[in-house]
Order: sequence, then C-alpha cells, then structure tokens
Amino acid sequence: ASSPANQTIGSSVDVRSVTKYYGHFRAADDISLSVSPGEFITLLGPSGSGKTTLLNLVAGFQKIDAGEILVDGKPIHHVPTHKRGFGMVFQGYALFPNMTVTQNVAFPLRMAGVDRQTAERRVAETLEIMRMSDHAHKAPSQMSGGQQQRVAIARAIVMRPKVVLMDEPLSALDRRLRESIQIEIRDLHQTLGSTILFVTHDQGEALTMSDRIAVLNAGHIVQVGTPVEIYRHPVDRFVASFVGESNLIEAEVMQKRGDMMTLRNRAGYTFSARSRNAIDVGKATVLVRPERITISNEAGKNSIPVTVTSALFLGEILRIEAEMEGGEKLLIRCSDSAHRGLPAIGGTLHASWGADDCWMLS
Ligand code: ATP
Repeated sequence: ASSPANQTIGSSVDVRSVTKYYGHFRAADDISLSVSPGEFITLLGPSGSGKTTLLNLVAGFQKIDAGEILVDGKPIHHVPTHKRGFGMVFQGYALFPNMTVTQNVAFPLRMAGVDRQTAERRVAETLEIMRMSDHAHKAPSQMSGGQQQRVAIARAIVMRPKVVLMDEPLSALDRRLRESIQIEIRDLHQTLGSTILFVTHDQGEALTMSDRIAVLNAGHIVQVGTPVEIYRHPVDRFVASFVGESNLIEAEVMQKRGDMMTLRNRAGYTFSARSRNAIDVGKATVLVRPERITISNEAGKNSIPVTVTSALFLGEILRIEAEMEGGEKLLIRCSDSAHRGLPAIGGTLHASWGADDCWMLS
C-alpha cells in the first residue's frame, strides 16, 4: 500500500552495560543488547523479569543508574523522552477519549508543527496502512479493543519514527484478534522499515513476530537469537522450558564418538544423540521437543516404552502425556492422522526420536 518513498531507515539501538535499581533491587543487571537498523527485536520473559524496565529506559521514562544507551552511535540516555523521537505504544498510553481517530493520529504531527496539508495526507496514509480509514471520524468509545489498538499504533508511526517501542500492545485482545494484529504489525514493519523493540511475555507471539528475540530472566538477558535458534538451541533449562513445550530428559552419556553419543536414561533405556555443543561424558539433560517424538504400538530399535497418563484431542494434533519407567514424564505432540485416534489411558506406547532431535543442555 505504500511507496518506497514512505520507507524509514531504522536506527541502530545499543544498550551497553545498563543497570537500573529500584531502591536496593536491581531490576536491570548489566544489560547489553545491540539492535540493528530496521530490526524487529522482542524482549521476552516472565512477569517481573525486567522487560518493561528495559523498554522504559530506552524510552527515557526512567533514568539508568549505570551504562549507556546509544541510537545510531550517539548517547541518548540524557535526552528527554519527547526529544528522542520514538514512536511508542504503551499500555497506559491510551487514546485521547475526547478526540476522533483522525485527531488522535494527527496529534503528534500537530505537536511537531507539521503544516495542515501534509498532516492530512500523512494521517490518511497511516490510517490506510492500519486499515482504519473507514473509522476516521469515530470516537475511541465507538470502537472495539482491536480497532483502538490499531489507532494507537497509527498514532505511534504517523511521524515515521526511526525507532518504535511497543510494550505488550496486544495483551488485552482475544486470541484471534491478537493473531491477526500480530501479522499486521509484522507487515507494517516490512512496509515501514523502522527498528522495533517489542515487549511480550507470550513466547508464541515472540516466535511469530521477531527477527530476533532477547530472553530475559531476573533482570538479565540470558539469550539473544533468531526464533529458530532460541527454539532449537536454547542455552539453558530456563529458555528451553520458557519457549515452547519441552521434555528435559535426564540421562547419562555412556559413549562418545565424534559428535555422536550414546545415552542412557534413568530407566536404563539407551538412545543416540548428535551433539553440536560440547558435552563431557557424565550426566546430561537432553531437550527433545514434543513434536519430535514418534509413537508406535510396537516396540522398535531404540524405542522407549511409556504409559499414557493423559491424551487430548486438539484438532490438528494430539497431545499425549506419558510416563517412562521410573515415573519420568514425557510429553508428545503428534498429528491425529499419524496415530488414528486417541490412545487409551493406562495403555503402553513405544516412543522414539532421532539423534538429531536431541539438544544437549549441560
Ligand atoms: P511484567 O510482564 O509483569 O510487566 P516485566 O518483565 O515487564 O514484568 P518489570 O515491570 O520491568 O518486569 O519489573 C521488573 C522488576 O522490577 C519487578 O520485580 C518489579 O516488581 C520491579 N519494579 C518495577 N517497577 C518498579 C518500581 N517503580 N519500583 C520498584 N520496583 C519496581
């Protein structure tokens, strides 16, 4: 819908050794993060991990206690919020209730003293991008939550900012609406070219939307990577279990030859794993994603017998919880057609996975 002339060149954002205290509590602990120009980066973490704190520091709503924040190589942490020129969609940053959609979106242009004709054109273009043109004359109270959210995004991007900050902009919406606006924001990012810093605690949202994800825990960044890297090769148990569903199987490395190894689980069954990360012989935790597990009614080479404890039909897939001998749990997700119906609770299945389906955690 927009011409290349409409494209912004996003800025780089460098967070360097930033620390933030609330009293004696360290909410951001020596955080470093480099965001490339035009990148869509998501800050992902559980409640209280410091996501909003980090975004507030970049926005300038709060002051850093140590470190620096640079935009396009220039320090900005002493610059007041309104002079940073960022587009922002924050939860508490609601629409002005007494203004129409057009007036809300035109507000930043008015503040910046943009002439009327240019402003009108810009507002029309932006409402078009957000597919809100038909609602231009409505008041916020006459619109659904999703429509209000789209107007809030329109207001944040109307200045074509080089950096856009979004803090859980979709958390108040139902699942369907959230998923459709996720795709709209992704498309918007392609159209606009701005650098986007996006906060969510929803791992699915982070995987869908981001170029890269920074996973936070207790005021630290524990891993930064593409969605595929984070999902397939988590650095530790925390990331493995926070992003996606996981089986963390306790096992012992019996033998190692090149990158292939033979492991034995607690119940005494052996399986192979290919290790792309350095693991010594000894105890190990093996991550196997539930969708990588194959089940069969017959025992096979390298298969492990499991007892079904729960089986759910979820439409396109079955979600089966089972226990290995010794009680260790195994979660399995498989297509309905592969298994033809739900297995019986208490019944035995034979689970197996390939050496390449394993990721070793130390
Ligand atoms: P959520 O997803 O729940 O919003 P978050 O990851 O965004 O969480 P922050 O809001 O950044 O987390 O909070 C990080 C930690 O700092 C929390 O333990 C929180 O209680 C604390 N905290 C946040 N703001 C303040 C404040 N103004 N004063 C004191 N402590 C604060």
